[in-house]
Amino acid sequence: MKKRIVVAIDGPAGAGKSTIARRVAERLGFVYIDTGAMYRAVALKALRSGVDLGDAERLEQIARGARIAFEPGSSRVLLDGEDVTQAIRAPEISPAASRVSVFPGVRRAMVELQRQMGASESVVMEGRDIGSVVFPDAEVKIFLDADPAVRAARRIRELEEKGQKLDPAEVEREIRERDLRDSTRADSPLVRAPGAVVIDTTPMSIEQVEQAILNVIQERIIP
Ligand code: C5P
Repeated sequence: MKKRIVVAIDGPAGAGKSTIARRVAERLGFVYIDTGAMYRAVALKALRSGVDLGDAERLEQIARGARIAFEPGSSRVLLDGEDVTQAIRAPEISPAASRVSVFPGVRRAMVELQRQMGASESVVMEGRDIGSVVFPDAEVKIFLDADPAVRAARRIRELEEKGQKLDPAEVEREIRERDLRDSTRADSPLVRAPGAVVIDTTPMSIEQVEQAILNVIQERIIP
């Protein structure tokens, strides 16, 4: 039987995780899992249900009750059977996802789901705590980082490509706030997991980052 492999990619917002993780998964024929999309789906469900984003108990119920899935063969995100791929990218969902993800009950529900998703197939999973908490024994751990200003600029470009026009200063402020909350929360903060290879993507093209990660995977998996 072929060995199942987990490639964990963590890092702050705008470091390039989603683009890179998707490309690496495609190259290797692995399943791509965007765990940020899962916290975004919980936040969307909470906002739609009028739940206070500080109410730990209700949020845990929402997280446990939400049926979150990725449509096989596409990157579409399904919440209770509804395609929410676009809805979870609305600007107000980013800070809301960061707020709901602080609560241990919410995290437990998502981590269980993520472990199930990575249990039977080789995956490239990206997020904040994949190498540290979800799969601490992952065969390959990568930590992607970049200058905050560069990360904000990438985010603005990404949103503009989707037709959303936002104030650059506001986007940079939102990213800084989110990074601070994600890095300082008590449960599963964003950290460089032991054994993670750190890549500063500030001066690199997407192709260069992809190649750097493929090189690490090759070194670790085919010694
Ligand atoms: O990666 P993305 O920006 O879509 O993630 C949205 C938010 O979800 C993050 O700011 C973070 O608070 C939360 N998150 C998390 N753990 C993960 C992935 C995302 O706490 N593994």
